Amino acid sequence: MTEAVEPDFDVIVVGAGPAGSVTAYRLAQQGLSVVLIERGEAPGAKNLSGGVLYGRVLDQVFPGFADEAPVERRITRHVTTFLTPDSAVSLDYRSERLAEPVNAVTVLRARFDPWLASKAEEAGVFLMAGVRVDALLTEPGPDGSPRVVGVRAGEDELRARVVVAADGVNSFLARDLGLRRTEPTHHLAVGVKTVLRLPRAVIEDRFGLTGDEGAAHAVVGDCTLGIGGGGFLYTNTESLSLGVVLRLDDLVRSGRTAIEVFEHFLEHPGLAPYVRDAQVQEYGSHLVAEGGAAMVGTLATHGMVVVGEAAGLTINSGLTVRGMDLAIGSAIAAADAIVEAVAAGDTTATGLAGYRRRLEASFVLQDLATYARAPKFLERPGMYGAYGELAADVFRRVFGLDTTPRRHLIGVARQALKKSPVTVRQLVSDGWAGVRAL
Ligand SMILES: Cc1cc2nc3c(=O)[nH]c(=O)nc-3n(C[C@H](O)[C@H](O)[C@H](O)COP(=O)(O)OP(=O)(O)OC[C@H]3O[C@@H](n4cnc5c(N)ncnc54)[C@H](O)[C@@H]3O)c2cc1C
Repeated sequence: MTEAVEPDFDVIVVGAGPAGSVTAYRLAQQGLSVVLIERGEAPGAKNLSGGVLYGRVLDQVFPGFADEAPVERRITRHVTTFLTPDSAVSLDYRSERLAEPVNAVTVLRARFDPWLASKAEEAGVFLMAGVRVDALLTEPGPDGSPRVVGVRAGEDELRARVVVAADGVNSFLARDLGLRRTEPTHHLAVGVKTVLRLPRAVIEDRFGLTGDEGAAHAVVGDCTLGIGGGGFLYTNTESLSLGVVLRLDDLVRSGRTAIEVFEHFLEHPGLAPYVRDAQVQEYGSHLVAEGGAAMVGTLATHGMVVVGEAAGLTINSGLTVRGMDLAIGSAIAAADAIVEAVAAGDTTATGLAGYRRRLEASFVLQDLATYARAPKFLERPGMYGAYGELAADVFRRVFGLDTTPRRHLIGVARQALKKSPVTVRQLVSDGWAGVRAL
C-alpha cells in the first residue's frame, strides 16, 4: 500500500520505557528507520525507580544483559509476608539456583531505561527526548475507520508507516483511537514508592545477602490497613525500593489517602528494622494496571500497534508483580510483526495482525490467560486482614508455650478458626478460588 505523503520514518515509537526501547531496538536491528520519542528529559526520568525485572526475556534480546546493564542485585530470596498490627507470618524461599542463569534482577529505572535506550541508539534509532507527543495524525483507512499516519508534537508533525504506542498505563494514544476504554477503578491501582539509601554492607547484613544477591519482599495485610493491594521491599546495591500498591476502588472506599497508607507501611514494626536510618533518595506515585487479561484492549489497528502497559499487559498474581517482562515480550512480538508488515507493504490492521498471533504464541498472552482469575480472587476481602490474623493466631498458639497442655496442630487450627471471623465455608471457597486463580 502506498502512502499519500512520503513518511519521515518507517516507524515512530512513542515512549522510551522498556516496551518502547526494545521495540525500537529490534526494528532498527532489522533495518527499519525508527524514531523513539520520549517526553522525559531523558529516558527513565518520568519512570518511578525500583522494581524486579524477570529477565529471561531480555536475555533473548541482549544475551548476558545482566553482566552489562546497570542492574542492581540478582534476586535469590523471595519472601511473602502476611502482616498484622503486631505479627508477621512469612514464607521465605531462597535458592542460589535463582542467580544463574539470571532469573530476576532489581533495577533502578533512572539508570536502566537510559541504558536500554542507548542500545536502541547504537542500533541506529533516532532518540528524541524531552518531546511530548500531543496527538495522532490520521487519515481515513481502507474500511473508513482512521488510519494512523504519524504524530504531532507541539508544532511539529512526523509521519511513518507505523506508530507504536508504548506510552504506558495512561496511554492516550490507545484511548484516542478507542482501542482502550476508560478502566473501571478496580482495574487500576495507585503505587506510592520511595528509594531509600543505605550503605551496601548494612543492606547485606539486614537481609542476609552476600555479593550481588538480592531479596524481594511482598507483603499483604496490615501494611495497607486492610485495603486491597500490598507492599513491597526490594534490595538494590546501595538502596532499598519500597512502596505500596493500592486498588483504587478500595482506597476510595476506605476514605484514606495513599500517602497515609504508605507512611503507615514505612513505620510498621514489621518493616521498620529494615529501613532504620535510611535516607530518602526519591519518592513518587504512579498508576498501575491491575485488570490482567480483562484489561487488554485491541492491540493493532491501521498503522498502529500498542505495546507494554499501554496495552494493559501486567500481571499481579499476589506473589509477583510483572509489567516490565511483559512489556519486553510484547516489544519483540510487535517489532517482528511490523518488519513483516512493512516488507509485505501492508501496514493496515490486517497486515499487522501478526502482532497478536505472536503474542498469543508467546508467554505474554498465555500467562495473562493463566492468571485471568487472579484480579477477581485478589478482590476477596479476607486476603488483607482476616487470613493474616488467623495464620498469626495459629503460630502464636504453636510457639507460645504457656504451661497449658499442648494440642495437635489440627486442634490448634480449629481453635484459632473458631475465634476468627473466617468461616470454614469461606476458607474452602477462597482456597478453591485461590487454587484456580494462582
Ligand atoms: C509502584 C509500582 C511498582 C511496580 N513494580 C514492578 C515490578 O516490580 N516489576 C515489574 O515488572 N513491573 C512493575 N511495575 C509495572 C512496570 O513499571 C510497568 O508495567 C512497566 O514500566 C511498563 O513498561 P512500558 O514500557 O510499557 O511503560 P512505561 O515504563 O510506563 O514507559 C512509558 C514511557 O512513555 C513515556 N510517555 C508517555 N506519554 C508520552 C507522550 N505523550 N509522549 C512521549 N512520551 C510519552 C513516559 O514518559 C514513559 O517513559 C510497577 C509499577 C508501579 C507503578
